[in-house]
Amino acid sequence: MAIYDGSSTILTWGDVLKFIVLQSGEVGQFSEPELRLRRKDVEDLVSASLSKSSQTPSLASAIPEATAVAISGDQIAAVGTDKYILGLAGPGTEKIDLGGQRVIPGLIDSHTYIIRQGNNFAMELRWDHVPSLADGLRMLKAQAERTPAGQWIRVVGGWSVDQFAERRLPTIDEINAVAPDVPVYVLHLYDRAWLNKAALRALGIDKHFYEPFVSGRLERDDNGNPTGLAMARPNAQPLYALLDMAPKLDFEQQITSTKHYFKALNGLGLTSALDCAGGFLNYPDDYGVIAELNKRGEQTVRIGYQLFAQRPLFELDDFKRWNDVVKPDEGNDYLKCVGAGEMLVASAYDFEDFSYPRPELPKRMESDLRPVLEFLFENRWPIRFHCTYEESAHRLLSLIEEVGQNKGLEELNWIFDHGETISEGTMEWVARMGGGISYQNRIAFQTTAYRARYGEDALREVMPVKKMMASGAPLAAGTDATRVSSYNPWLAIHWAVSGKGRGGDAIWDAANRLDRHDALRHWTAAGAWFSREQGKKGQIKPGQLADIAVLDRDYFTVAEDQITEIEADMTLVGGKIVYAKAGFAAHAPAPLPELPDWSPVPIFGAPGAAAHGPNDMAAE
Ligand SMILES: [Zn+2]
Repeated sequence: MAIYDGSSTILTWGDVLKFIVLQSGEVGQFSEPELRLRRKDVEDLVSASLSKSSQTPSLASAIPEATAVAISGDQIAAVGTDKYILGLAGPGTEKIDLGGQRVIPGLIDSHTYIIRQGNNFAMELRWDHVPSLADGLRMLKAQAERTPAGQWIRVVGGWSVDQFAERRLPTIDEINAVAPDVPVYVLHLYDRAWLNKAALRALGIDKHFYEPFVSGRLERDDNGNPTGLAMARPNAQPLYALLDMAPKLDFEQQITSTKHYFKALNGLGLTSALDCAGGFLNYPDDYGVIAELNKRGEQTVRIGYQLFAQRPLFELDDFKRWNDVVKPDEGNDYLKCVGAGEMLVASAYDFEDFSYPRPELPKRMESDLRPVLEFLFENRWPIRFHCTYEESAHRLLSLIEEVGQNKGLEELNWIFDHGETISEGTMEWVARMGGGISYQNRIAFQTTAYRARYGEDALREVMPVKKMMASGAPLAAGTDATRVSSYNPWLAIHWAVSGKGRGGDAIWDAANRLDRHDALRHWTAAGAWFSREQGKKGQIKPGQLADIAVLDRDYFTVAEDQITEIEADMTLVGGKIVYAKAGFAAHAPAPLPELPDWSPVPIFGAPGAAAHGPNDMAAE
């Protein structure tokens, strides 16, 4: 295979794609004026089709002549017709025929926990696409039989009771029955976790166990023995604290685990992510793995990371300490610091568990948050902050407006996260102050719980993306993976387009659903603003980073329920092929080091990572 460094690539796209051409020589075969002319035409067409949508039946028909892309180094050099682009090829140019498969800009997840998940991916059994509880339990049993002493089985997020044919959760007795000897931890959304008997034993949790948790509790039987069921009330931190007590992979295993996770994401067409860190991910101590991969040049998903305050009441100390060692925008195109949040102070965090009543932010929130905001704005840190409910949004925005006045807030590309129940006035307020909104498909995992608590009418209005679009605020989509939502971006795109939850229940009326172009734009071009990389990525356009996915089926024309099945057949990041399968398998990069042999991933598969071989025990 050719060496891609310093090479140029030409690839065709759209409905009539024919070639990808990888050129190891220089791109000097075209005349500059012609290139500039073509660039202008195609830029206009591409940005028109990506930004305005409803009248545009399909990307390809909007720009029928753009069927090929030339890549030089890590950037897109030209976009045009096959004839034009192929005319740029030199003798060393390599060509790959895409056979007319759909090509899109690499996807950008604007809200996820990719760094933490990289360190854990190899250890997790994923239920994201499991259709029934019976299948889930069968997988647990099979994994229990192949898990060596000292290892745990963990099912951590990505699934919902709504997706199971039985429409019910497992019981602790069922989990104990399929896994009597191996410690098992299963997390369901934000509200509960099960630890089987072996896990309780391994952690020394018995009737004498003192619960340090201020919120949440362990269920106990009549004799005071913990049953293994742990509940959030509604703060899920106790559930995560229990998980944090389980054994971890060593550093080299975490490197391998992360590479496999990134490959799975590439296999879904994802090439960039904004990382919200999450609890128990301390900067810089817990960033060793990603820093090492970055240093080795082995990172295949670009990451902009935000720093998440870890210690309630000591948040300002965290940010002051971090400000001495890193600054916003510091790093490179693969790994850079992009701001602070989504946890700025613990008291400003409204928990999004819809099976509990809406939590009221404590009175002390303003006095906790004010000095943190003052410090961050004075030091020009873009912020992002978690906010689920309208009531919390009002208090948070009032304070941000007051503290941010005359501090250049509007230039900071700050981010309002989530916003399931926010009003039009609140969205417009965010837009007026120069903020953007990052929305996710969490509601698709909690449809039944939300309807049970707030009713059908409220469900029709929840996470009002169409209104957010009208508010004028920059908008980007994400998953909030991995402990609640799945990391599979196509589940989020399917939710936005279909308006359906994971169990197939309708959430929105037709008027609230997004058309396929808008839904995709929030995952591509629109995402770049959120890391202050506008114009640099998210579009197939000359001068942008060559982050591109070749899909295994055409997103714009497949039946709606097939959107959840979409994968990439080939993915390029910075002009390098980082993932290739099916007809492009010959272009695949060298295989990764293997996961530990007890890892559930190769046997059961995970989104973007198919199960292998005759032992394939996956449910689907
Ligand atoms: Zn959040």
